Amino acid sequence: MTDDANANAPTEPQSPKSLGRKVLRPTLQPRDLLTEAPEWVGTWTAQIITLFPEAFPGVLGESLTGKALRDNQWALRTIHLRDFGVGKHRNVDDTPAGGGAGMVIRPDVLDAAIQHAGSFARGHMPLIYLSPRGKRFDQAMAREWASYDGLTMICGRFEGIDQRVIDAYRIQEVSLGDFVLTGGEIAAQAMIDATVRLLPGVLGNAESIEDESHSNGLLEHPQYTRPAEWRGLSIPEVLMSGHHGNIEKWRKEKAEEITKERRPDMWERYRD
Ligand code: SAH
Repeated sequence: MTDDANANAPTEPQSPKSLGRKVLRPTLQPRDLLTEAPEWVGTWTAQIITLFPEAFPGVLGESLTGKALRDNQWALRTIHLRDFGVGKHRNVDDTPAGGGAGMVIRPDVLDAAIQHAGSFARGHMPLIYLSPRGKRFDQAMAREWASYDGLTMICGRFEGIDQRVIDAYRIQEVSLGDFVLTGGEIAAQAMIDATVRLLPGVLGNAESIEDESHSNGLLEHPQYTRPAEWRGLSIPEVLMSGHHGNIEKWRKEKAEEITKERRPDMWERYRD
């Protein structure tokens, strides 16, 4: 990871002086400031408030998202909730008001972490709380998020977070799906992955985004590769024909067939 990507520390904000979207970064040699063009740092940034900063970048550090992170095509900043905990033990949670099992993350502690995150935020970087009660994440949301300057995501643990913080900041709750995880970290990584791969330049081949499942209302057609024959099974002939028109037609037909069969809900919407 780069320094930028690992601006992980609970230390003082090191936010560079902002000149609109362009930012002058202080360097050890002030002369640079005068002679060099301002560095472009309009980089899409995910800020993550979490009790497990070491879980990041996790799988996002691999493959295309990892390379893009190292190339500063996007940036990641983790904010350790524990640093804002109270008392000798830096407590972040307490028992639920009204009784019941588990623990709830305290509003004052989370508020301090959100304020800290806010000191780095620029442009449009909405606050998102990963939550099974939220609106379900989908490709349209990923596309919208990719058009922002970034996001600040709150990963819950235990029974979740105090409702007053959600209300006070009007935090948007977003769910990975209809199941319950032990924490928001995996959900955050899944959503960041889906978003970052839509940023210009992150995937080598922009066309692969246009065709794939969920981008055009259909699930994707089947894919094949070498060897041409495997266990007596061959690749559909049309794909070996080199006839682009026929290949396109076959792929569209297959995509429609699969969508109709597996996702009647998507098929209905597609036909309308
Ligand atoms: N008591 C809560 C669940 C808490 S699970 C409830 O019933 O709604 C602990 C944390 O895991 C949550 O605060 C949330 O951040 C995260 N989490 C769990 N399931 C999730 C999902 N489907 N999508 C996104 N985040 C989830």
